[in-house]
Amino acid sequence: MKTCTWIGNGEGCNHPTVKDRSYCEHHIWSVYQKGTHLSKRKKDIRTAMTVHFWEDLFNQAVEELEAEGWSFEAEVDRIIA
Ligand SMILES: [Zn+2]
Repeated sequence: MKTCTWIGNGEGCNHPTVKDRSYCEHHIWSVYQKGTHLSKRKKDIRTAMTVHFWEDLFNQAVEELEAEGWSFEAEVDRIIA
């Protein structure tokens, strides 16, 4: 019989695994929750990358406009004045 592969706090776990799984009944839910957490994190990373993508596009547009003599700073001053 296989034993749990949980290494949570570094001490490991020697409980028998749940059928066809790598973890015992005590740890399988911890792992599941960690997985859920990771997929949420993946979503956060995707969001950050998307924001970064738009920032890049934005900066590119500003650069092009500035090349034509338009000033982003002056424009901001004008808007908030
Ligand atoms: Zn365990």
